[in-house]
Amino acid sequence: SVMVAGAVAALSEIWGELQRAAGATERLVELLNVEDNVRDPETAQALHDAEKGAVSFESVTFHYPARPSQAALDHVNLHVKPGETVALVGPSGAGKSTIIQLLQRFYDPDAGRITLNGTDLRDMARHDFRRAIALVPQEPVIFAASARDNIRFGLPGASDADVEQAARAAAAHDFLTALPDGYDTYVGERGVMLSGGQKQRIAIARAILRDAPVLLLDEATSALDAESERAVQTAVEALSANRTTLIVAHRLATVKKADRIIVFDQGRIVAEGSHDELVGEGGLYARLARLQFTDGLAAE
Ligand code: ATP
Repeated sequence: SVMVAGAVAALSEIWGELQRAAGATERLVELLNVEDNVRDPETAQALHDAEKGAVSFESVTFHYPARPSQAALDHVNLHVKPGETVALVGPSGAGKSTIIQLLQRFYDPDAGRITLNGTDLRDMARHDFRRAIALVPQEPVIFAASARDNIRFGLPGASDADVEQAARAAAAHDFLTALPDGYDTYVGERGVMLSGGQKQRIAIARAILRDAPVLLLDEATSALDAESERAVQTAVEALSANRTTLIVAHRLATVKKADRIIVFDQGRIVAEGSHDELVGEGGLYARLARLQFTDGLAAE
């Protein structure tokens, strides 16, 4: 995994911000996760061990290799309890995505450590680590294949019944059965084009199939229509239930449902609490809540 992480890190250095903007890194990791499922079938015990899903950042400091003078994370302490859902919020460049990137071991911290159930990520076997963490990227990949196979990518070998169960939990079943050939409809390139909200629900169904104890969710910034918005919200709730979940949150509905909101600014955690607590404090969060969430306070 160090080799893969190193290669991916090198790639993202070459392509820089452009690649980041395109979400290519997340796509690559989603694919690598799938690959892992194919090649590493012997880790049932390890998965069981990881099921608790406690995630800790212990005084983590990190600089991107391309920008050694600026700390993307600066002595970050973050402890997420098994099953807890935390929403990461903050202005652009605050360090939210960096948390998600380090949790996937694209990079290792310069100082401090990141642990999963008390074990340093650097000490975990690649297959254990990959099994423990699932990612729902901001812009999910839809393969040129049937809708059914697109979901099954989450767990190759899953039965049709399992695929359908995951799709129902992800609030995708109704739109899938309404497609010309239902679950067998060819989607993606030269097939039926799915809306942003539909793609997200496919990615959520995949992650439900993967059934990892830790879920990383990079919420889409693009606005969805109200119906799709509600469906995606339902799907996210199904996915994050009983799972440790870290969400880079862009929606008010999401932060309100989170157990805890963590506010980042310039690589540091500057506040945490519930939505009401943080609005009451009237600091950075209160300003963000007014300006940043795509489903804004005005909608209330
Ligand atoms: P946004 O909401 O805009 O996605 P963010 O809170 O997720 O912002 P990060 O992407 O974690 O912020 O960025 C933290 C800091 O690290 C920023 O200063 C950003 O410019 C910098 N940064 C992010 N990715 C890289 C990279 N690949 N190389 C160099 N610097 C980077």
